[in-house]
Amino acid sequence: MQPVVLSVTATGPDGHKFAHYRTSEPPELWIGPAFAKAGAAKQLAVLLHEAAHSVATTRGISDTSDRGRHHNSSFHRIAGEHGLYLDADRKAAHGAATLAPATHKNWGSIIKALEAASPALG
Ligand SMILES: [Zn+2]
Repeated sequence: MQPVVLSVTATGPDGHKFAHYRTSEPPELWIGPAFAKAGAAKQLAVLLHEAAHSVATTRGISDTSDRGRHHNSSFHRIAGEHGLYLDADRKAAHGAATLAPATHKNWGSIIKALEAASPALG
């Protein structure tokens, strides 16, 4: 398994607010301030979103179109494999992600515990 660099900074690359997976060498997962302010369900969804990009890279699949601005059908398929729901709007921002109902149900008790343990961030 290839190592991934995790960066947590105040400003993100290319206007990203929550997180971004960069196919650099080594790959980088950037996490930003909006991520920290999101609830546990959104954080899980964002991490799964970025994980889906990582899986596409590992599989050698192009998962965006328009020079990386939009998600393509391959991304939607892989994101679905990882428990995300994405509507048909492929122009949705990177970081846009919603847990599929079954995923939310499966992780529900953990999400509740994390939300209860986390201080409200303003
Ligand atoms: Zn994305």
